[in-house]
Amino acid sequence: MSVEAHIKKVLHTIESQSPGQKEFYQAAHEVLYSLMPLLKEDERYDYFNILERITVPERTIIFKVNWVDDHGRIKTNFGYRVQFNSAIGPYKGGLRFHPTVNLGIVKFLGFEQVFKNALTGLQIGGAKGGSNFDPKGKSDNEIMRFCQAFMTELYPYIGETQDIPAGDIGVGPREIGYLFGQYKKITRQFEGVLTGKDIKWGGSNARKEATGYGSVYFAENILNKYGESLEGKRCCVSGSGNVAIYTIEKLYEMGATPVSCSDSKGTIYHENGIDLNSLKAIKEINYQSLEVYAQVHPDAVYTPVSHYPDGRHMVWDIPCDIAFPSATQNELNLEDAKKLVDHGCMLVNEGANMPTTPKAMEYLKEKGVWFGPGKAANAGGVTTSQLEMSQNASMAKWSFEEVDIKLRQIMRNIFDTAYETSVEFDCEGDLVSGANISGFRKVADSMIDQGS
Ligand code: GLU
Repeated sequence: MSVEAHIKKVLHTIESQSPGQKEFYQAAHEVLYSLMPLLKEDERYDYFNILERITVPERTIIFKVNWVDDHGRIKTNFGYRVQFNSAIGPYKGGLRFHPTVNLGIVKFLGFEQVFKNALTGLQIGGAKGGSNFDPKGKSDNEIMRFCQAFMTELYPYIGETQDIPAGDIGVGPREIGYLFGQYKKITRQFEGVLTGKDIKWGGSNARKEATGYGSVYFAENILNKYGESLEGKRCCVSGSGNVAIYTIEKLYEMGATPVSCSDSKGTIYHENGIDLNSLKAIKEINYQSLEVYAQVHPDAVYTPVSHYPDGRHMVWDIPCDIAFPSATQNELNLEDAKKLVDHGCMLVNEGANMPTTPKAMEYLKEKGVWFGPGKAANAGGVTTSQLEMSQNASMAKWSFEEVDIKLRQIMRNIFDTAYETSVEFDCEGDLVSGANISGFRKVADSMIDQGS
């Protein structure tokens, strides 16, 4: 059977065994086709034969989460943990609390995490979890009760050498605190079972900043490769969570001007540059909507979601040199890519997981726009999670600078690995293939060694 026919067969199995899981199918489709150069050289058919095994999670846990709201009513949500692959280390990956979460979303994120984690060069396997619980509009007490109920169901499956969850969309330091508190209460163990902990009780310096900072370091590596830098560049950032906020912070430090951010209700365009202090106060302290930003800054343009032409993201209408999609999956489509190209955008750097649709990716490639794939560009978060695990295991505490230096170095290594792999397989500069092939090869070789 030809490589193409085999990939089609594996994708067909995914489609029939996981009907309706379109994001998982999309992620598998992208990864498998990008492996073609490796599969064509694989004379022993080792990699060829592993495709149908590596696309199946090792374990999928689905549970019911009952919690009590502020009116004393019992509410129910779904909870998930997909332990995708443990070939190179214990399961590692975030938890997402968002109404769009379902099994397909968690599987796509877990699958991506496997290769991302391998690419960091660290010994961590891949997993993801979460719930369709919507933290928006919930009181602090409701969030706490939900997190406690979620952990009560999840705790038997996790542990510091087994599976170490962290945050993702809707799960920040506050939620990690409540989850950790409940784990400790049930198990009576004070252990590094979660990352993204507060510095006071076992967290790492710079973990909160890591995904955003890492994304900017990755972009800088791409730009430097082509004789460019971030200095003086206008940057469009989407999102206003952890990733977006610290992307914006680092962009300022590197001499660039971030001019946008967004949330589920609308987009902010602030021509002179986003006011970082306002953004942090609104999102990190008060959990408010970006409407408040527009009230504080009358010179900023706020476009509510209701004004978006069908599903398009207004962020990508803003002229920029570099785009940092840092909100969620499939947020940058073909129309958006066309706008970006028309405006002369030179680089799209994915802070979120799979934010660019396949058609948009194809178009950007065709037009010669440089592209930092999420698996590499946003790996700074999980990298620093591993640094947190390392500090927990040795009871050490590294300074902010020490962690930041290590993060920057690892982002450099990730870039070099992806770039060198693209050269090895005759697609120089194609970091999607470079990242996927190098991550896949490490995991697949380990599976072969272990007979798994
Ligand atoms: N959720 C983050 C990611 O997508 C971080 C995961 C972690 O730190 O374990 O990589």
